[in-house]
Amino acid sequence: MVQGQKHAVDAIQSSLAKRQVHHAWLFHGPDGVGKELAAMGFAQALVCTEAPSVGCGKCAACTRVANRNHPDVTWVMPEAEQVERGISGRSDFTATPSRDIRIDQVRKLQERLAFRALEAPHKVALFITAHAMNQPAQNALLKTLEEPPRDTILILVSSAPDKLLPTIRSRCSKAAFGPLPLEFIAQKVKAAAKKKDAVDDVLAHQIAAMASGSLARALALDPSALARRKEIIESFEKLVPDDAGAWIALAEVLGEDRPTAEASLDVLQVWFRDVALAQVGSEALINLDLKDLAAEASTRVSPAGIQRRAGLLDEAKNAISQRNGAARLQLERMFVEMFTA
Ligand SMILES: [Zn+2]
Repeated sequence: MVQGQKHAVDAIQSSLAKRQVHHAWLFHGPDGVGKELAAMGFAQALVCTEAPSVGCGKCAACTRVANRNHPDVTWVMPEAEQVERGISGRSDFTATPSRDIRIDQVRKLQERLAFRALEAPHKVALFITAHAMNQPAQNALLKTLEEPPRDTILILVSSAPDKLLPTIRSRCSKAAFGPLPLEFIAQKVKAAAKKKDAVDDVLAHQIAAMASGSLARALALDPSALARRKEIIESFEKLVPDDAGAWIALAEVLGEDRPTAEASLDVLQVWFRDVALAQVGSEALINLDLKDLAAEASTRVSPAGIQRRAGLLDEAKNAISQRNGAARLQLERMFVEMFTA
């Protein structure tokens, strides 16, 4: 079901094979290493009609799990994440979509779990980003963990399990997902890039190393932009508010043509994310080799400032891709707005 995670997968499969599935699981490990995929596979195994306890991945039940519309499988995640993933629209929420999983979401789930399963032998709840549960939500969930409703299986997926109450953690069976092997990621990167530019071994390994064990992170990196990644970021961080000449010069270099501009914006987008992570003391940076610069940059701009920059970057990206607008001008405008507000 998930490659490169033998240890975790063995633990899950042996519990399924014995048909003694514990009622609560914690899938923990770094981001982008297959936890969520494994959780979905687990849910499929629990509701599959063709290969019970294994999961065929193809039957109607398995397909509905993958499409998030199986009536006995509930996904719980922060509203903001639902919006980011395109599951919900911003307009589905009256207030700003929350980054927390809140108590009303847990209560709603508990109401559902009070009823019998509709089709499958089990009711399954998948908590994606389980550590996003705030304290009241965690306390509410604790009751369900202590007195689980019949035939209910809860799967908590988390890259930060220490943010969960010890009493929650102790009631869960655990499946530990490690960083994926460098070689495994390098091979996947090469395979994914086959159609586009040829990615040689050196570049594939460089990408794999930057991704520090996360396949998702590795695949998000654009190999062709990587060569100039450092240069782009360092040039950007040298820009200062009262040197318009430098913004214009950089816009000229990065905006020489559309592909260059788009790749440069991709690099900067990841970089802003890194700076935001550095601001909250996270070590999960993609530009790991620029950790010190990220830390330094994070002191020069406020969290709101980073959000604003990310928004301006999105606008420039859209303008360049949709309107075929002059890339250089869009970049120039972006820098002006970033540094004159
Ligand atoms: Zn199936």
